[in-house]
Amino acid sequence: MGAYDLKRIVESISNLKSENFYNAICLSLSEVLGASHVFLAQVDESTMHASTIALAAYDEIVDNISYDIRCTPCNDVMCGGISSYSSGVQALFPDDRLLADMGIEAYVGVPLQSLSGKTDTILVALFQHEIGDALQVESFFSLFTGLIQREIDKDRFIAKLDFANQLIEQSHEAIFICNKNVEITYVNTAFTKMTGYPPDEVLGQNPKILSSNQHDQHFYRAMWHQIDKKGKWSGEITNKTKQGTLYTQFLSITQMQTNGEICYVAFILDITEKKEAEQKIYFHANHDQLTGLTNRFYFKERISELVSSLSYQDEESTNLAVIYFDVDKFQDINTVYGLSFGDKVLCQLAERLESSFKECAFSRIDGDSFAVLQTYQQVSELELVCKQVSALLVEPFLIGGISQQVSVTLGVSTYQQAKSISSQDRVEKIARRLVRQAELATLNAKQVGAPFLHFCKEMDDKVKKHNLLVEQLTQAVKNDELEVHFQPIIDVQSNTVAKFESLVRWRNHGQWVSPAVFIPLAEESRVIIELGELVLRKTCQQIKYLEAQGYNQFVFNVNRSLFEFTEFNPHRNAWLEIITEQNVNPSQISFELTESVLAPENTNHLEVLTQLKSAGCLISLDDFGTGYSSLSYLRRFPVDVLKLDKSFIDEIHTNSGDEALVKSIIQMSQVLGIKVVAEGVELQQQLAVLKEAGCDFIQGYYFSKPLPGDEIQAFLTQLAREH
Ligand code: C2E
Ligand code: CA
Ligand code: CA
Repeated sequence: MGAYDLKRIVESISNLKSENFYNAICLSLSEVLGASHVFLAQVDESTMHASTIALAAYDEIVDNISYDIRCTPCNDVMCGGISSYSSGVQALFPDDRLLADMGIEAYVGVPLQSLSGKTDTILVALFQHEIGDALQVESFFSLFTGLIQREIDKDRFIAKLDFANQLIEQSHEAIFICNKNVEITYVNTAFTKMTGYPPDEVLGQNPKILSSNQHDQHFYRAMWHQIDKKGKWSGEITNKTKQGTLYTQFLSITQMQTNGEICYVAFILDITEKKEAEQKIYFHANHDQLTGLTNRFYFKERISELVSSLSYQDEESTNLAVIYFDVDKFQDINTVYGLSFGDKVLCQLAERLESSFKECAFSRIDGDSFAVLQTYQQVSELELVCKQVSALLVEPFLIGGISQQVSVTLGVSTYQQAKSISSQDRVEKIARRLVRQAELATLNAKQVGAPFLHFCKEMDDKVKKHNLLVEQLTQAVKNDELEVHFQPIIDVQSNTVAKFESLVRWRNHGQWVSPAVFIPLAEESRVIIELGELVLRKTCQQIKYLEAQGYNQFVFNVNRSLFEFTEFNPHRNAWLEIITEQNVNPSQISFELTESVLAPENTNHLEVLTQLKSAGCLISLDDFGTGYSSLSYLRRFPVDVLKLDKSFIDEIHTNSGDEALVKSIIQMSQVLGIKVVAEGVELQQQLAVLKEAGCDFIQGYYFSKPLPGDEIQAFLTQLAREH
């Protein structure tokens, strides 16, 4: 081996393509060195397996092989570097089957280091004979390792590049590249698919070719400004395909340097479907399904927008008003003609609004209430708008042959333009406040029977006071602060107490509040349920107390409002549970209810009443004569007692008409087997008429006001004494 051999190898491998390179070098080396085998192998560190890239055996290239390098001299090469054994290598590595099979005597192996400094390839020569100078082989090998390594690195780099190319080409994202003059130099397949442009139609063009003219100059200027400054830009943009279809894309552009020149790489993601879905969601979220008008979310958003835009205007004369209105007695329309008729009324109203308020924002806020958003200079203009709305309803609605006259009540809230409201939070608050105040004004207008009202502070104060009272009542019920008083009901025949009516009493911060005031509040806030249970429980306790004193003949009447029935759970009769829990005989409790509980639509109430009656409780019909006084209701459920309202009693001794009416009710009740209680009896003369008419029981101040529990005994004793 000498310079000549070296020259021969170099010549044989020059001008070689890389696929032949490894074979050629192994072959030449084996010839020159007289080795039986020369091979290049790549080693997988994790499995410790070597796979040959080229294998020359007996001066020929043979098929590549793979082998386990553990317990072989190759392992030493991988771990420790150049290894050579001039002879007897088999004896040193007895477990290396390959050495034995091939009859190998001598071994020379060198490691090749990749760019990262890692050994993953080895170059090995095997000899079937002893070699004189292993060192010479080693140094000969070393001369070629750099060359081989460079070739391996190059191959790996090309493989990586190939992969990157495929990635770009097969990507779902459309990609295009522009040179420094912003001319397209590359587009991938997805680009052609998305835009409709094949490469030859766009290469060399400015990307403007994709533009939809939907964005103005400012947009593009801002985009390029950011690319220049920050090296990248991304955002949504609408472009046009070659066929002219608009599509929305998410575009990201990155400025890069290649070979010292700037280029721009753009990634496009088609988000048209996502955008369309978003728009659909936006439409549904902002429109009312029934009338197709915008809804209250949209309305509040519009107010917010207007409030912020007004705060940037210079002239200070533009103000904002919300005109809220609500169909009068809409519930009655629904009840009489049905819900779908009511829906049609709302749709026709919406159509009339649409035809006359084209320029303004108007929406259906809720149920039968609508609102118009109006800018104005003079407050007097608003009255005109209110009249304009009312004028829409002069003509009746004609639906399915029925002509329905409709009227509305309006409420107005206003907003005076203010300078720069910066926070979005505040703007939204203003929007909410405007709608709420206009609604409140409508409510007040309805209460006083005005066609429209402007919102004023007193309305807010009224609401605050109301809310405070509700809150205090709720607390009082929770803390068991309510009391119950008991009004005696006298048996006319025996002139003795037969029953008591339990009447709830509330002292709020030292002041008595009338049940006529707080019962409606309790109904509205649902606390009536707990309140009713509290009254029943305290009544039961009073019964037990009197029982202990030797009185066990009294019936106690407890009031139940309609709302307590609507919310009642018949599967768990809480009232009967209380009566049982307090160990009271159910026949000592009579539930007082008004006619409305027995109205035909309330069939489930009858179930509750039946449960009570079956348990032995009595049922009294309260305030008879004030409601529909429909005798047919009496037939719907067999009540035990009927309570004649105070309004019949007041003038019974002076008004012969009242006297006649009361007499006929009593007669009718006797026929039906119903006992009669006269309420609010204050005078001896009233009592005399009632006695003569055959009334069974008397309740009223004539005998006694409602009494606290601890005054009952004294009253009973006194009455017995008078008797
Ligand atoms: P109501 O059921 O008609 O009760 C009779 C009302 O007339 C009671 O007023 C009673 O104090 C009053 N009263 C009795 N005799 C006379 C009289 O001779 N002259 C006059 N001027 N008034 C008389 P109160 O206690 O203020 O109760 C008012 C209403 O509050 C009750 O009318 C009832 O509807 C309701 N209420 C009272 N307590 C309860 C309760 O525990 N639950 C429910 N749901 N409602 C109750
Ligand atoms: Ca009552
Ligand atoms: Ca009553």
